[in-house]
Amino acid sequence: MHGSVIGSSQSSIDLGVADPCEPLELVIDYRPSVDHGHDAGTTHNVPVSGGHSISYGGKRYELDSYHFHTPSEHSIDGEFAAAEIHLVHTDVAGDVAVLGVLVDESEQSAGPLHFSEATAIESLLPDTTTHYAYEGSLTTPPYTEGVVWIVMKDRITLHPHWIETFNERYGANNRPIQPLNGRNVMLGWGAPHIEGQVPKRAEHQPWQGGTAAPRPKRHKASHWLAGCMPEP
Ligand SMILES: [Zn+2]
Repeated sequence: MHGSVIGSSQSSIDLGVADPCEPLELVIDYRPSVDHGHDAGTTHNVPVSGGHSISYGGKRYELDSYHFHTPSEHSIDGEFAAAEIHLVHTDVAGDVAVLGVLVDESEQSAGPLHFSEATAIESLLPDTTTHYAYEGSLTTPPYTEGVVWIVMKDRITLHPHWIETFNERYGANNRPIQPLNGRNVMLGWGAPHIEGQVPKRAEHQPWQGGTAAPRPKRHKASHWLAGCMPEP
């Protein structure tokens, strides 16, 4: 699309309308790494190199970078989270998939206090792969559409001091909610889900800064509720 034209499938949106849906398999394959970010003017941007990927619906996307918004860009039934992390991936054709992680504040969080702290990428993921999915756009210019959005349903926590520091530096940098315009929003259940058991990450790592090397993380969402996707 032309950069100056904003289409009808824009992000972000309110995810409260999501329907439990037919599967598209989500595999998150992030490797141990600790990356340093930099001030990108409107946000804190963290470029990452090699080896981290997701596959969604059988399509593989490599992780290029991640950044932060405060408050969150996506809302659930009108409620915003304190922050939202966007892990930005591209495939070989240049198609974009963004994995969003909503962040709550917690005094108990071991999450970073300062921007200068290096971040272990797997500490940015919640415990399960249950997620919302829809097709939208970049939330910054040129607002390009055709972006696959995967927003994790479970959240992580960061220390309130981190959120305050971010707000002082960047102010509110979340794009307002955009009209849905009839788009499907799917809610897919993550990880092997057994009735009565909440799927949890196998080993929950505390915040990993510095040189600690967490073990590889491989999430697999294999169980979904049947639902709203039309037959192919
Ligand atoms: Zn973003």
